[in-house]
Amino acid sequence: MTGTAIGIDDLPVRDELRGKSPYGAPQLDVPVQLNTNENPYPLPEPLVRRIAERVAEAARTLNRYPDRDAVELRTELAKYLTRTGKHPVGMENVWAANGSNEVLQQLLQTFGGPGRTAIGFEPSYSMHSLIARGTGTGWISGPRNEDFRLDVEAAARAIAEHAPDVVFITSPNNPTGTAVDAGTVLALYEAAQEAKPSLVVVDEAYVEFSHRDSLLPLIEGRPNLVISRTMSKAFGAAGLRLGYLAAHPAVVDAVQLVRLPYHLSAVTQATALAALEHTDTLLGYVEQLKAERDRLVAELRAIGYEVTDSDANFVQFGTFADAHTAWQQILAHGVLVRDNGVPGRLRVTAGTPAENDAFLEAVRALKKEQQ
Ligand code: PMP
Repeated sequence: MTGTAIGIDDLPVRDELRGKSPYGAPQLDVPVQLNTNENPYPLPEPLVRRIAERVAEAARTLNRYPDRDAVELRTELAKYLTRTGKHPVGMENVWAANGSNEVLQQLLQTFGGPGRTAIGFEPSYSMHSLIARGTGTGWISGPRNEDFRLDVEAAARAIAEHAPDVVFITSPNNPTGTAVDAGTVLALYEAAQEAKPSLVVVDEAYVEFSHRDSLLPLIEGRPNLVISRTMSKAFGAAGLRLGYLAAHPAVVDAVQLVRLPYHLSAVTQATALAALEHTDTLLGYVEQLKAERDRLVAELRAIGYEVTDSDANFVQFGTFADAHTAWQQILAHGVLVRDNGVPGRLRVTAGTPAENDAFLEAVRALKKEQQ
């Protein structure tokens, strides 16, 4: 079917999808790519070999459907959380899916949906509102302070006013890098229970890079609190597509009402299990990236940029009269950063020391051009 001028809006698509474009950062072929918060370090060779072994093993039974409940994988994820999250969890507390985006989608399919609403405190991870739209959940844009931190009182007021069914708290937040403390989550959880009660989802995609501990212990005694995590960032495995959640076992039972049967392929499960065997090596890269993130913050400030404190593997900086023009000027130096649409600000992911040097050189030059 070529030559036909038929577009999406000519099809009988749902009204709320008309005139919309798909989510996605530009995937440009430039030397330094610091735009999607990926881990710059390829997986170490011994892990690559272990993945090949485990995938070969899985291949021998690919004629069969995979373990629908991913029991071995959830058990190993629970061990990882118990070891690093300062709170014991078992496989009955853990659920896994193809990236934390799918985890969040399953949560909204279960707890949101037509006639229901979700709130996030923006600017934040834009997929929260897009997954809300895709699942027919109404979206409420909640407030955030001028300095990009969460204002507990204003957020609690918004929850009381709108009584949403799902509350998203992103910590560390994307794109700002700001994290919240346990007191903030507890206050918003209380507000959400009083208003509805609703499900509170703490999106901890970047928590391994944080100065703060995971908020995992808060799930104890709070069945409506969910912690969402991913292997895309700290484990350096964005291509694997493996996200997971920790919550009361009833939440794990509930999402199974909407998950597609056999949603996690045997190849995915085998690869994730191999990566979890190498947790300590992979977390070693996290330490290097935290040091590089701190260097980026310090050097950007020394150059004269305004920088938001970061608990993640990326840094928000500015200010620019026109962030998009600045984005293009940095790109002209062969460095791809992200324009998240936050006025006057851009976001850079911490890369290898050499990549970060190239970025700093580009923004130093940009500052000189602006003076
Ligand atoms: N949450 C946040 C805050 C993110 O920034 C991202 C990735 N950009 C995700 C969730 C989704 O990650 P994934 O689906 O790769 O696990």
